[in-house]
Parts: sequence; C-alpha cells; structure tokens
Amino acid sequence: MAKNSQPAMCSPVSGGDYDRLETLLKNLPGMAYRCLNLKHWPMDFVSDGCYELCGYQRHEIESQQVLWGDFTHPDMIDEVDRKVRSAADSGQPFEVEYRIIARNGQEKWVWERGRAVDRRSDGVVILEGFITDITDRKRTEAALVRAEAYAQAIVESALDAVISVDDQGAIESFNQAASSMFGYRSDEIRGHHCRSLAATSFYREFDRHFQRSQTPTKIPLTSIELNGCDKHDNEFPIVLSMREILDVGEKKYVILIRDLTQQRLAEREVREQRDVLAHVDRLNTLGEMAAGIAHEINQPLTAISMYAQSGLRFLRRPQPQLRRLEDALEKLSQQAHRAGAVIERMQEMTRPHQSHQEDVAAEHLLQEIHDLGEVEAQIRNFIIVLRLDDDLPRVKCDPIQIQQVILNLLRNGMESMRANHCKPGSKIVLQARTTPTQVRISIIDGGLGVSRKLEKQLFQPFATTKASGMGLGLSISRSIIAAHGGQIEFNNNKTVGATFSFGLPRQPD
Ligand code: ADP
Repeated sequence: MAKNSQPAMCSPVSGGDYDRLETLLKNLPGMAYRCLNLKHWPMDFVSDGCYELCGYQRHEIESQQVLWGDFTHPDMIDEVDRKVRSAADSGQPFEVEYRIIARNGQEKWVWERGRAVDRRSDGVVILEGFITDITDRKRTEAALVRAEAYAQAIVESALDAVISVDDQGAIESFNQAASSMFGYRSDEIRGHHCRSLAATSFYREFDRHFQRSQTPTKIPLTSIELNGCDKHDNEFPIVLSMREILDVGEKKYVILIRDLTQQRLAEREVREQRDVLAHVDRLNTLGEMAAGIAHEINQPLTAISMYAQSGLRFLRRPQPQLRRLEDALEKLSQQAHRAGAVIERMQEMTRPHQSHQEDVAAEHLLQEIHDLGEVEAQIRNFIIVLRLDDDLPRVKCDPIQIQQVILNLLRNGMESMRANHCKPGSKIVLQARTTPTQVRISIIDGGLGVSRKLEKQLFQPFATTKASGMGLGLSISRSIIAAHGGQIEFNNNKTVGATFSFGLPRQPD
C-alpha cells in the first residue's frame, strides 16, 4: 500500500494491525478501495488486487494518474454513477455490476459493493468498497441463458409433445406441440395430473408406467403405446416415454408423446393393400392349380357316382340288401365329405380376407395345407412328407395367410424339383419343430437350390426365373410373415435343394 496515501483518511491502526489488514486484503479475490464521490471516482487507496483486476499498479491509481471511471465502460458509466450517487445521498450501501476495460484492452465484468463512510469538510462524500472480477460468472450465466434459450427453442419447435411434470405427476410445462395435440393451452392444463392426457381405460397402464419411471433401474425404460384423450374427449393412439430430469434436490420428469394417428392410418393402408395383393395371389395360385383341383374333386365324384349306382342295385334286388346298401351309402357320404372339404378349402382361399390373427392349432393348420398341397404334388408325382414334432403347441397367426405362404413355398419347391428332373415319388418335406418361443416351419425340397444370382433379390417383387412366373409369391409371403413379427429365411441344402423356414409365435400353454 502506498504509505503516502495511508494516514490521511484511514482510522489510525497500529503497525501489527496494519500488517494483518494488509495480508487480509491481499488474500481477497478483488480490490478494496477508498475514493471520493467525484467525477470518475479519484481513489486514494486501493488494495493489491488492483493490478490483477485492471492492469494498473496501485501507485498509478492512488496518485490519481488514472481514475477508476477512465476505464469503466463508457456504455455503463452513467448508470453506475447514478446508482452510486443515489446510494451515497441516502446513506445506503450500493451494489453494481458493470464492465471495465482493463489496461490491456480486455473487457471484464466486475461486481462492486460500497457505501459512503465519511464526508470531507468541503462536503465531498468518501466512499469505501470492494470490487471483484465476475467475468467468469457472467460468462457462465450467459452460457446458461443461451443453453436455456436453445433448449426452449428445441422444445417449442419439437413435433412431439414435450411435457414436464413434478414427482406427483402434476404438469408444469406443456409445449406448443402438446397444445395442438391435446387442445389445451399451457396455462389451462398446468397443475393437472398428466394421467388426464390418457384415455380413462388406459389410466392403470399409465400409472404403472409412471411408477416404473420413478423406480431407479439400470434397464432403460421402454416407451408404451396407449390411447391419448384430448380436451374434447377424442381418443387417439399415442406412444409415450418418460424419463427423470436430473435436477438438484427436486425430482422432475419429462414426458414425450407422439401422435400415432397418421402412422396407424398408413399401416392400415399397407395392410389393406397387402390383403388385396395376397388375395390376388391366392386366386392366381388356385387358378394355376385348377387341373389338380379338378382331379381332386373328380375322384370323390366318380366314387360317389359308383357308390350311388351300387346302392340302387342293392335296393332294386327282389330281396333288397340293406346291409350292403347301408355300407355303400356310408362310403358315398365319406366321398361327398372329401369333395366338400376340398371345395370348402378352395372357398376359404378364394374369399377376400381381412387379415387378423387368432389362436390356431399348428397341427391342424399344417395338416390342412398339406392336403391342399398334395393336390399339386399328385399331378407332379411328388410326395409331401409331413414331419411334425409331437404335441405341437398352438400358435398365433392368420391361418389363411400362413397356409398361403406354406402353399407358395411348397409349390416353389416342387417347381424347382421338376426343373431338377427329380424322379417320380421324390419327397418334399413340410416340417414343424417346437422351440421355446415359436413353432418353426420349414419346407425342405430336393430342387436346384436358389441361384447365387437371384439370392439378393429373391424377395423383391417381380424377381422370377420362371417363364410364366410373376415373381410376387415370395415378396407377398415375406410381408405376411413380417406382419407376424418374423422373417422368412432360406439356405441351400448341403446335398441338394433349398430350405425355406419361418417361425410363428407360440401361444402360452
Ligand atoms: P415366382 O414363383 O412367380 O417366380 P416367387 O416370388 O415365388 O415368384 O419366386 C421367385 C423366384 O425365386 C423363382 O422364380 C425362383 O427362381 C426362386 N425360388 C423360389 N423358391 C425356390 C426354391 N425352393 N428353390 C429354388 N429357387 C426358388
């Protein structure tokens, strides 16, 4: 401290006290001062922190070669002056934040606190105070403000509803997308429980999800799909995810909600188109199988006509042979039943069909399609071997569409076997194996195998090697299996032919 400025205005202090005061001031993160409340505040005492703060030495300031106001930022000096003056006039302490331009030209933010401590005989007020560098704090504050504005802009321009709630589920904020989705203004819904955004029938599911979000877990919480409910009680499908916001002390949650209405409509459209295409494919397949089907129906019809004639003969005898007549009628009925079953299967396959999944006995499903496939196999002189695990479980599927896929794979396999010149009586296997989660269905043929050239586009529409092929069978089959949550896999067998397989989800026992 410049000794020449010391005694004039300080209260007298002893040497020891003075040293302690000096040490104390040195350790302060800033500068203590005493000045006159005149223009630009001439200072007659500043502590050591002065150099670090503004780049001027103590003696330069204390000798008043430079005044504090000389490097107070010109944009702010008037405001600082006004505040200091008004505090000095009222004898109150003052606090100001302003920028200075340090000796090296660097701008700094400083915080100053001071008060009037005395008055000279000419009436000029003497101020004492402390000034410290708050540039870092200001920078952090500015970064925080920017980050908050940035986050706010993201939330407000988000296409999804972004809602924040407290740990009781009370809504705290509701972005623009949430307002458009649910029809509530932000101030209107604030404070309501977030559950009220779900349709009443989904309240329990919603509450369970909210509770799970509040339980600490390492497993990331998945989103849930449910029906939302808007201000006018309209229900619509939504997907919702919830996550805790890291906040000091209080627990808060952010909920993201996406409206699935458009997605559901698009999915329905795709499903309807797939159903139409699958129907056309079934008609086409059955058209191609017409010769075999005619044969399949002709056989029981011929037998029916035979048994009817024998029956008549037994009846017309002078001594009607009722036992034999009964026998003939029994067989006739069996054949009529067989023909009826073929026609019924045809009808089922040709009927337009809206896809839906049901609980189906896998064995029955496979037996039925085996019988229909046999119609074609007989014409080609091949045999379809049905190889089923014992006690096949029930599966969840659309039976008509799954039978269509299997028939398609069987016919492709037999076609490939014909191209491979397989001998009459050659076998194609329709196999079903039980796994813990699925019934795995495979069609194993003895044909040419899938050519390398075709491998990559096998499931693409219109990919065919057949002269009269449409190349739609596998692509339709793939989309049917995809709608069952699976996919068709294929491999060329080690020796000959190819295996196509897919899984159907097991129904719980
Ligand atoms: P298409 O039968 O009308 O050709 P698909 O989509 O059912 O249409 O089959 C596409 C192509 O895939 C067939 O033309 C054939 O070359 C090949 N393919 C299908 N299944 C087999 C198979 N089991 N073995 C060898 N190639 C096959």
